[in-house]
Amino acid sequence: MTEPDVARRVEKLRDEIRHHEHLYYVLDKPAISDAEFDARMKELKRLEAAHPELVTADSPTQRVGGKPAEGFRKVRHSRPMLSLDNAYSEEELADWNRRVHELAGNLPVEYTAELKLDGLSVALHYQPDEAGGALLSAGVTRGDGQVGEDITTNIRTIRSVPLSIPPEKLQKLRLPREFEVRGECVMPEAAFERLNEEREREGLPPAVNPRNAAAGTLRTLEPSIVANRRLVFYAYFLLAGGDYWPQGQTATLDALTALGFRVNPHRGRVDTVAAMMKFVAEAEKQRATLGYEIDGVVLKVDAHATQQRLGYTGRAPRWAIAYKFTAESAVTRLEDIMITVGRSGKLTPTAMLTPIFVGGVTVSRATLHNADFIERKGLLIGDWVRVERGGDVIPKVVEVVEDADHPRGNRRFSYPSICPECGNAVVREEGEADWRCVNADCPAKLRESLLHFGARGVMNIEGLGEPQCNNCSSAGWCGASPICIG
Ligand SMILES: [Zn+2]
Repeated sequence: MTEPDVARRVEKLRDEIRHHEHLYYVLDKPAISDAEFDARMKELKRLEAAHPELVTADSPTQRVGGKPAEGFRKVRHSRPMLSLDNAYSEEELADWNRRVHELAGNLPVEYTAELKLDGLSVALHYQPDEAGGALLSAGVTRGDGQVGEDITTNIRTIRSVPLSIPPEKLQKLRLPREFEVRGECVMPEAAFERLNEEREREGLPPAVNPRNAAAGTLRTLEPSIVANRRLVFYAYFLLAGGDYWPQGQTATLDALTALGFRVNPHRGRVDTVAAMMKFVAEAEKQRATLGYEIDGVVLKVDAHATQQRLGYTGRAPRWAIAYKFTAESAVTRLEDIMITVGRSGKLTPTAMLTPIFVGGVTVSRATLHNADFIERKGLLIGDWVRVERGGDVIPKVVEVVEDADHPRGNRRFSYPSICPECGNAVVREEGEADWRCVNADCPAKLRESLLHFGARGVMNIEGLGEPQCNNCSSAGWCGASPICIG
C-alpha cells in the first residue's frame, strides 16, 4: 500500500470501529460479531504500529494509551456540580411541585422524569480539535462539588464515552466546540458480579456494591484495570459557556443522544404529582431487571427559562428533586453474633449473616445495637431474620421471621462477661443498655482511638484509619481504596 492508501485505510477502519462501538456500547445493538470487531481493531493497531505518524489522540486504539497515573490532579469545576434535594413521599413531591408553581409564576412548568442512577457523577470536557470538531480533553470527578479530580486516562477507557465529536454533529446542534457533558458512571451488575468472583479467587473481601466498586475503579491508577471493569457512562447534562444548554432538559437529552452519548432510555415528561408517582411506580417495577442499580427517580423542570427563574439554594437547584425509593428488606439467616469493642470500651453485638443482596448491596453483617436489643427481639443463633437497608443507612435486623420454611434457631447467645479483646471483666452501669470494658489499657480501645484519630475528618492521616473505613466495617470491602481491608 502507498502512504495515502494506508492513511485512507486507517481512517476507514477508525470510522467503522467508532460506528460499531456506538452500536454496541451506546445503543446496545451490535451489528457484527466480536471476532469481526477484533479483526478490525487488530488491523488498525498493526497499521498504526507501522505508521506511528498516523496515530491520533481520538483513535479507538488510544483508549488505554495512557501510562499509569501517579495521582490525580485537582480541577475546579466551571460551574459547581450540585447535589439534589431529596423527597421520600408523595407529600414531599406535592410540596415541591407547589413551590415550583409559586416561584414559576406565569412560566411553563413541565417536568422530565429520569431514573436516578446509583453511580458516580463525572464531568467530561470537550475542546476544539484540528479537524473542526471537538476532542475529549478531561474527565473530572464530582469531588466536593467545587473541585474534583482529573481522571481523564481512566474515563478514556469507557467505551460509551466518545473520544471526539465530528464537526457536522456540532454544527447541526449549533453547539460551540468547547462544551461539557455531565452524567453518571455506573458499574453494571454483571460486571460487579464478575469483579467479586475475581476478588474471591484472589482471596480478597468482596466489594460492597456497584457504586463503591465503580468509585474504587475510577480512582485506580492503572487504566487497563478500568478498561476491564466495563463501566458505562450515561449522559444527562450539557453545558456550554458555563451554563446549562438553554433549550431545556428534554432537548438536552435529545442533543446528547445526537452527539453519540449513551442516554438512559427510561425517561418521560410529567406535569402532575400523580404522573410523577406513576413514573416512580414503573421505575420500581423495572428496577430488578435493569442490569444496573438505581435508587430513585430525578425530576427536573424542563424549560430553561423556568429553571433560571427558580434558581438555586446554597447547595441544590430548586428546579430539580430526587425521589428516593424506600428501604428494601430481605430475609436471611443469622449465623452468629460477634462482639466488637469500640473506642469508649462499648461492646457492640454484630449479626453475622448469610450474605444477601438487599437495597443495592451484599450484606453480611448488621448491627444489633446492644444486649437489650437481642433480648427484646428474642434472637437465637440460627434464626431467620428480616434485614432492612435504605439509602446510605447501615443494614439493620428488624425482626425474626418464623414459618414452615424458616424454623427458629436453637442457640441462645450469651453475652460475654469478659472483654473479648483483653479478658478484663466488663461492666454495665445501672440504667445503661451497653456493657463496657473499663480497662484503660485495652488494646481494642487503643486501636479504635488511633483509627478514629487518623480517620478522615479528624486528623485526615492518609492510610491510617483506611483499614476500617465506615463503608467497609459495615459490609465488607467498599472498593474505595486498594489498601482498605474491611
Ligand atoms: Zn477490653
